Amino acid sequence: MSTSSLPAATEVPDGLEDVAEALTRELPRTRAWLEELVRIPSISSSPDHVEACRRSAERTAQLLTEAGLDEVRLLELSPAADGSVVHPYVTGSWLGAGPDAPTVLLYAHHDVQPVATAGNWTSEPFVPTERNGRLYGRGAADDKAGILAHVAALRAWQQARGGAPVNVKVIIEGEEEIGSPNLDHFLAAHADELRADVIVLTDLTNWQVGWPGLTYALRGMADVFVTVRTLAQPVHSGMWGGPVPDALTAMTRLLAGLHDDRGVVTVPGFADDVRPLSDDERDRLAALDLDESTLRADARVFDTVRLTGDPDRSLVERLWMQPTITPTGMDVPRVADASNTLLAEVRAKLSVRLAPGQDPDRALGALARHLESSAPFGAEVEVAIGENNAAWVTEPGGPAWDAAVAAMTAAYGRAPAAMGCGGSIPFVQPFSDAFGGAPCLLVGVEDPGSNAHGEDESLHLEDFAKACLTEAFLLAELAARAGELRTA
Ligand SMILES: [Zn+2]
Repeated sequence: MSTSSLPAATEVPDGLEDVAEALTRELPRTRAWLEELVRIPSISSSPDHVEACRRSAERTAQLLTEAGLDEVRLLELSPAADGSVVHPYVTGSWLGAGPDAPTVLLYAHHDVQPVATAGNWTSEPFVPTERNGRLYGRGAADDKAGILAHVAALRAWQQARGGAPVNVKVIIEGEEEIGSPNLDHFLAAHADELRADVIVLTDLTNWQVGWPGLTYALRGMADVFVTVRTLAQPVHSGMWGGPVPDALTAMTRLLAGLHDDRGVVTVPGFADDVRPLSDDERDRLAALDLDESTLRADARVFDTVRLTGDPDRSLVERLWMQPTITPTGMDVPRVADASNTLLAEVRAKLSVRLAPGQDPDRALGALARHLESSAPFGAEVEVAIGENNAAWVTEPGGPAWDAAVAAMTAAYGRAPAAMGCGGSIPFVQPFSDAFGGAPCLLVGVEDPGSNAHGEDESLHLEDFAKACLTEAFLLAELAARAGELRTA
């Protein structure tokens, strides 16, 4: 992107040469604007950065205005019930394509994760720095690149044609990195003005550098708290150990019973409603050929440790389409403080990932019943279900999906991978709920090396140019499918 030429792999669709040319010509400016945003430490979780979040919203609003949007606004909800600050959303719209053209809602977020261990960054987190074709900086990929992809595409259309071929609404959130706590009621409050035929969420990961991805499935998640009690109070392990059971042994036996020797969840009924894969889908996932050595290296698994899960399922199926139950914390004495005592009570937290298809109430109910009925030594077992949300899945097809496939294929020179994501992305479901039925396209600007949320976060600059082109082409592909989108 130091030169402003078209990426070598890109094949501009017929008739869009002027749009591609305008976008390419403006890439240096797009990059400069991205760097400006990266310099603003908009850490939404930090009370010390409230002002920075506001500045990043204000600068984002100016950029949306540069992109030709009308009525760009900072929208602020009143402080939450607990008095905590609500970071501003930025919205804008351009409805110049007329009533017969489809309306597209574009989403990204302008807040970022903290940098926790700034000392481990190769360059300063908030000083954007290029190395080896990548732009390093907190937010360079997640998700300030998503904002600039929207801006670059809309500006290119504005400069080449005076406006986009579709009506456009934009929402840039300021609270994604703290779990989008207010998105539900923000969308509810503005549902009419934000209504659209297609929603484009630019905050995901591509499959590989140079190989785009369209995400159609996200796992859900749940926190489950388990308390095991065997005694009214701790007692001496020498005086009583033998006939008297302790809570930690009971807890570890209870947790050990959640999986078989292969690490497959064995809770009766838990996985009953996991969405089955068709042969087509299973083949398609297997064709993504995530190999074991790559996964081991990326996850830093020790050589002698075997991978877990059903060996008849591919690694991506296990990562995206199957549920997991993992203990992630336990309240017990620290080793340094441990005395010769039989523990009376132990508490553990389980992190559950729910697969597409699973009804959280049903699956978590099955887990709770299993834990309560499997109490080792007849211990008292108490289960509390915490925060949870269902998985999200959509059909990888239909006119909006096809439009995105065409746009990505042109921009990257290869068709996108239809991907899942093992994590849960809280902002997707509120959009699905608020605009019931409108297709959501989850588009990537990151790649697996971007290390979003981690140290040395970075953006692959040539793929970023392709992501901007993708979006410019997508608007035309959606306009061309106006009739199908309306009846879909
Ligand atoms: Zn993000």
